[in-house]
Amino acid sequence: MRLIGLTGGIGTGKTTVSNYLNKTYHLPIWDADIYARQAVQPGSLILENIVEHYGADILLPNGNLNRQKLGEIVFNNQEELFWLEKQIHPYVRDRFEQNIQQFIVKNNQLGYHTSEGYPTAVLVVPLLFEAKMTDLVTEIWVTNTSLQQQIERLIQRDRLTQEQAYTRINHQMPLEDKCQQADIVLDNSSTLEILLKQVDSAIANSSSPE
Ligand code: ATP
Repeated sequence: MRLIGLTGGIGTGKTTVSNYLNKTYHLPIWDADIYARQAVQPGSLILENIVEHYGADILLPNGNLNRQKLGEIVFNNQEELFWLEKQIHPYVRDRFEQNIQQFIVKNNQLGYHTSEGYPTAVLVVPLLFEAKMTDLVTEIWVTNTSLQQQIERLIQRDRLTQEQAYTRINHQMPLEDKCQQADIVLDNSSTLEILLKQVDSAIANSSSPE
């Protein structure tokens, strides 16, 4: 089985790569950001904890989490960020573990043989290293760009100021450190076409999955 952990800094191209892997190779994509959002849905225990911690002002009038307000708190206070991550990461890990179990069962039922290619799934986990989830995957891909490009793409996509983009980038582990621990570094400092060619090569290179 091949479980690709796709990570990298904010705005470096993870979604671009995972969309391509899904469309072109029909691989299942499991996205930590989606699970993290589900973790704080109204009625969840985690949202209750957040309200207890920050007060009811952290909710929008419709009862949903005010993500912008929470972002302003945690991206300006490392301790609060740790607290929040401690609430959410176990839920996300649990979801991945469930998916992996179901994937194993499904492929066993299908009688998958290695001659037909390794069953492969992609875990998109922006905080793969920070949340200590590397044990869930059999290989790690990191999308990489220069700091300047990362900032430019975030400003363009999310309408952030230069300072906001920089603060968000700074709250993550340095991208160079992620690249050092990667099995494959996807250089996204050029065109999309060049990025996707690297993805094709990385997919063809199914070295030694477990
Ligand atoms: P996040 O961490 O915020 O989820 P991400 O790593 O998933 O971001 P993407 O959303 O794939 O990154 O890319 C960030 C932005 O940069 C998007 O608007 C995307 O369209 C754009 N982008 C990605 N790669 C390129 C490229 N090679 N050339 C130009 N724009 C690009």
